[in-house]
Amino acid sequence: MSDTPNFHMTPKEFRRHGYAMIDWIADYYERIESYPVLSQATPGDIRASLPENPPEEGEPFEAIMADVDRLIMPGITHWQSPDFFGFFPANASGPSVLGDLLSSGLGVQGMLWATSPACTELETHMCDWIVDLLGLPTHFKSTSDGGGVIQDSASNATLCAVLSAREQATNYGVNRDGGNGKLVAYTSSQAHSSIEKAIKIAGFGTRQLRVIPVDDHFAMRPDVLEKQIREDLAAGLTPCFVCATVGTTSSLAIDPVPEIGRLCRQYQLWLHIDAAHAGTAALCPELRGIHDGIDLADSYCFDPHKWMFTNFDCDCFFVRDRSILINTLSILPEYLKNEATTSGAVIDYRDWQVPLGRRFRALKLWFVIRHFGTEGLRKYVRYHVALTRKFSDWVGSDGRFEFVAPPMLNLVCFRHIDGDKRTQEIMDRLNADGHMYLTHTKLNGRFTLRFCIGQVRTEEKHVVQAWERIQETTSKLEN
Ligand SMILES: *Cc1c(COP(=O)(O)O)cnc(C)c1O
Repeated sequence: MSDTPNFHMTPKEFRRHGYAMIDWIADYYERIESYPVLSQATPGDIRASLPENPPEEGEPFEAIMADVDRLIMPGITHWQSPDFFGFFPANASGPSVLGDLLSSGLGVQGMLWATSPACTELETHMCDWIVDLLGLPTHFKSTSDGGGVIQDSASNATLCAVLSAREQATNYGVNRDGGNGKLVAYTSSQAHSSIEKAIKIAGFGTRQLRVIPVDDHFAMRPDVLEKQIREDLAAGLTPCFVCATVGTTSSLAIDPVPEIGRLCRQYQLWLHIDAAHAGTAALCPELRGIHDGIDLADSYCFDPHKWMFTNFDCDCFFVRDRSILINTLSILPEYLKNEATTSGAVIDYRDWQVPLGRRFRALKLWFVIRHFGTEGLRKYVRYHVALTRKFSDWVGSDGRFEFVAPPMLNLVCFRHIDGDKRTQEIMDRLNADGHMYLTHTKLNGRFTLRFCIGQVRTEEKHVVQAWERIQETTSKLEN
């Protein structure tokens, strides 16, 4: 007989280290503004500080945490800082962190209803709640023919939409026989890179992805879309999928979904709406205009892990007809057969996504919605939008800057009138200085600063300071 190993953490030890960890995170949030927002590490720094080999013997937890402070923190960019204005936010709010911790503690695999009924049923319930919270069409509810599912990311939601469109267009023929090289998909030149990735994975061939040009406001041109669909039909191809974006990554442009949707109905194409960041705005009834035309969509996704104060990963993906999604992705090997599945009375979310295994993500969403309340969530969105308006007023009244796209929701895209070089200098100087962080994009080939206000800890004073810093840095560079 060999000795029973006893090196796992006992509940008593777990309690002690767990309390210390919560203290560590709370302290971190208290002192977060003392760090340079963008990590100042250079490539290879962090690895060079790590031991070459894994330890032979276990180490005390205190030693591990000391190394987190010493070795890891210098390589962290502080996404939770109120001075983080880059990309789109990746919010970690208190209730969400705790919900995620509980999910880790339970360690549930929610692939089937039977592997933890609460994991599935809370998720279904949260998705139905979201339909009401955002004012989405009721055919996205589980009580209709459609339904929602929590995916890890908008990228994977879009992939599931592309695969469903492919199978619908071929009567499940690609699943059975493989591709015929005739399927065509459409999106705009401003669409997120995940659309092209999904087309690659789905086997359309990237040449079969039509990149439709945009108008002056970076929104897809439906007239060009229709012309292209007609050309493809005339060439004997099979148009089957359109991805419209509500809130593009570069500038939060909104594609004309009503027109695009009408074309999709006319030519029988699957319409997917990618509202990864902007969707959260629909919490506020006065901002729901962003979703005009959504009734015409076959699927829709948005990321609570961006602007809805929920830790990554959490994307809500809705379909109008769940049977198409399930028929596209369902597989039932012997070892997963069980009575509940056979009865047809339950949802098995493994059939709604690419991987088999899945985390209990609905917990953190439930915690967030209950902690903030609908009104609380709306207050934050309204606050961020109001701060963004102020910020864009300041930009607009400073003759050294110009807007590159109309300010939208919580994003301002602007540049220095002297051009790309000066604009990039301003950004590099600000980010190296460490008091704030903002990122860039290119619009019509022009280097553009993106200033996004969506961090849950950001207050007016942070935005005021950021604007002062932008002005000071600009003045210094001009001298
Ligand atoms: C951020 C973003 C995505 C990708 O989001 P993930 O959830 O990280 O996959 C997709 N589309 C748009 C418009 C985005 O802004």
